[in-house]
Amino acid sequence: MLNAVLAMNESAISGHASPFIERFENEFANFCGTRYAVACSSGTAALHLAARALPIRPGDEVLVSALTNIATANAVIECGGIVVPVDSEPETWNLNPHLLDSLVSRSTTAIFPVHIYGHPADMPRIASYADSLGLSVIEDAAEAHGAEIQGKRVGSFGDAACFSFYANKVITTGEGGMIVTDSLEIAAKASSLRNLAFGTPRFLHYEVGYNYRMSNLSAAIGCGQMTRIDEIIQAKRDLARRYTERLTGTPGLQLPIEKDGYRNIYWMYSIVVNEKEYGESRDTLQSRLARAGIDTRTMFAPLNIQPALLLRGAVKPTPCPVAERLWREGMYLPSTPTLTDSELDYICSTIRNGR
Ligand SMILES: *Cc1c(COP(=O)(O)O)cnc(C)c1O
Repeated sequence: MLNAVLAMNESAISGHASPFIERFENEFANFCGTRYAVACSSGTAALHLAARALPIRPGDEVLVSALTNIATANAVIECGGIVVPVDSEPETWNLNPHLLDSLVSRSTTAIFPVHIYGHPADMPRIASYADSLGLSVIEDAAEAHGAEIQGKRVGSFGDAACFSFYANKVITTGEGGMIVTDSLEIAAKASSLRNLAFGTPRFLHYEVGYNYRMSNLSAAIGCGQMTRIDEIIQAKRDLARRYTERLTGTPGLQLPIEKDGYRNIYWMYSIVVNEKEYGESRDTLQSRLARAGIDTRTMFAPLNIQPALLLRGAVKPTPCPVAERLWREGMYLPSTPTLTDSELDYICSTIRNGR
């Protein structure tokens, strides 16, 4: 916090120049192991800019992880594309790469995997499938800053990747987002589109752009947050370990995993409740926790059942039985790393409730 405040004082003195934006972009690109980073106003804006920069064109089909924040799908739809939801792996809840070949069509141009709740999607498989057909890949890494596969950071696998700095994300600028990429072309295009796509001469525009800029003030907060990001991720991983210690062995509860060679940063500690084995439905457990003063959230509703997308005819209603089950049975627990042991004991004993 002190760092952020100091940084903000400095930025206030610097007038209308934007030194912190460039610094935040450089630091974040370094963090991800990519060449370029383009800061913008939100994770939603980052996804839209990346989809435009790729580009996704009207009529393109995009294979999108079914279990995700609606913003992943909106990016495709704003470009006139069609969302083709891909069902989840039962263990990691990420896009199941084995389903790609059954869903791909002549109109498919890209794959948008999501690193859900902090566990990386199977990027080696997804990238090699995409390569074999010449498809582009945009990673939605909004929940997975610093997550890794074999020591390689998420954000560095796709043609581009998008991060969010919303208040509940791994690091925050209040509102904010970032595109990272190794492609100068994508970075330049995204950077132009985020600022109304000014042309030459200035005030002639050859493309329709947006005001998706990040403010220098937000970037200053981002620089402050970068000094703590490793510590925050470690605290998230510690919290997950402390939850797992307390909940392991509870009948009917599926806990988050970390696949071999993967680094999960556990953005949200999520569980799946099997009613038959647990003895209570997810909804009943959620209400019981609420009465005990414990706030939880359900997992995302999958893209194949989203009314707004179906009404527009902008989504193929592919079968997603796993993601639909996760929507009914999945929930996440309080995930602030500052939770004390006694708070965790209270949450977990309420969940175990004699089980
Ligand atoms: C939060 C989130 C977004 C959207 O980011 P905002 O900064 O809130 O616009 C997109 N995708 C996923 C997976 C997210 O969790």
